[in-house]
Amino acid sequence: MGVDWSVPIETGPAPEDGESFDIIVVGGGPGGSAAASYAALDGNKVLLIEKAVWPRDKICGDAVGGKSLRHVKELGVKEMIEATPHFRVTGMMFSSPNGNQVTISLPKEEVEKREAGYALPRLQFDYMMFQRATELVMQAGGKVVQGTAVSNVHHDASTKQITGVTLSGDCNSTHMAPLIIGAGGYLCPVAKKVVEEMNEEKLRDEAHYCGAYREYWKGVKDVGAEEGSIELHFVDDVVPGYWWIFPVNEEVVNVGIGMVNAERKKQSGIKKSLKKLQHYLIHEHPRFKERFADATVVEGSGKGWELPFGSPRKGASIQPRRTAMAGAMCIGDAASLVDPFSGEGVGNALLSAKLAISLFDREKHSDGFPSNLAEEYMTKLWEELGPELSNSFKIQKIVRMKRLMNLFVKKAAKRPALQDALTDALASKEAQKKLHNPLWLARNILL
Ligand SMILES: Cc1cc2nc3c(=O)[nH]c(=O)nc-3n(C[C@H](O)[C@H](O)[C@H](O)COP(=O)(O)OP(=O)(O)OC[C@H]3O[C@@H](n4cnc5c(N)ncnc54)[C@H](O)[C@@H]3O)c2cc1C
Repeated sequence: MGVDWSVPIETGPAPEDGESFDIIVVGGGPGGSAAASYAALDGNKVLLIEKAVWPRDKICGDAVGGKSLRHVKELGVKEMIEATPHFRVTGMMFSSPNGNQVTISLPKEEVEKREAGYALPRLQFDYMMFQRATELVMQAGGKVVQGTAVSNVHHDASTKQITGVTLSGDCNSTHMAPLIIGAGGYLCPVAKKVVEEMNEEKLRDEAHYCGAYREYWKGVKDVGAEEGSIELHFVDDVVPGYWWIFPVNEEVVNVGIGMVNAERKKQSGIKKSLKKLQHYLIHEHPRFKERFADATVVEGSGKGWELPFGSPRKGASIQPRRTAMAGAMCIGDAASLVDPFSGEGVGNALLSAKLAISLFDREKHSDGFPSNLAEEYMTKLWEELGPELSNSFKIQKIVRMKRLMNLFVKKAAKRPALQDALTDALASKEAQKKLHNPLWLARNILL
């Protein structure tokens, strides 16, 4: 069942100008591919549009956590992943600014059942998600387009709803549907249109957007081959950001660095450039340079991108911001759902895809997806994700406190009970609340 992700994906003929659909999905990343798959499984005629041509890279840390795996399994993609080279994540190693470090194991049962997490290049993961979506969409009578961007999103001023899209380039065709799913990442044209038409919150907020830079390296020392820990380093020179080292297969390691945009703008010297900061860590930092002494960077893999965090915005009437209106719902990065502590966004992209599609009824909504259900989508999404995103936002702030991190990691390295509590926190969002509880922190740091 091995999948060769280096060959093109056959997506069939483009739709005729004017052809209409039940659902149009803009963007074929994990969120869009999952939404198109769920929609096709429900019997909808779907148009899935992706501006890139497969195989395509996506700048990422490449970790696919337990939340993602549940959806990946449901959509029939998990076995494909397991039949291709990947790294099984069994733990997370944290280091604090003064060099203390601790490794927290992921829950044993989840690791044994292969439900804890994987790391594999998004080139591979997204290929398999898109390939599966293509198969399901075409089986249900829909169409898939790649290499063509959506250039225009249509809004009907009389009915106050999003109604369709126009494709750019040679296609230049226009298509209508009762529901448009915005899954085009943080620059999604549907997300822009929704915010513009509803004139509510701003799309972009630098206090909640994170810049990040990634490279692939070969020959890095002291990393697992097929399974082991992924590493998060809160290095003195990097805080308020963090640096990661994630093996993705036997040979290759994903190395990257991220910092909230508003914080980065306050920095000076090399801290202003994530690329320069990463090169300093690799080539000069006393704790890391030896591990990279014989390593080589994969040519062309150094690229930057942004993470739209799902942290709560001060004073916003809708959290994290408006993502839906009559005729349209946005999912994944287009809905700003990345975890503000871990940087994970794939799981929330898949979860929001499933939720959005579950609210659509092609018979009842043939004249357009109604605004009351768009509101319900945003409410349900925040009910589901708001508590964990808000917790993560608090933890993101705590890890910026260098002395607290030094003490906490030192204690955690020595105390099995504290390590167990952290394992629980990696598995349960409820248990994560402890991590920013001042009393719990004080007890664990001072006693
Ligand atoms: C450096 C970095 C590290 C990260 N690390 C992790 C990690 O380890 N684990 C994790 O879970 N998450 C991680 N994330 C977050 C994760 O990458 C995103 O949350 C995830 O990709 C969101 O999926 P998506 O489908 O919503 O959007 P995307 O993956 O961005 O997909 C959007 C798709 O839409 C297409 N598109 C865009 N505009 C148009 C258009 N106009 N017309 C047609 N198609 C269009 C794009 O080509 C793209 O294929 C990281 C992000 C970054 C930047």
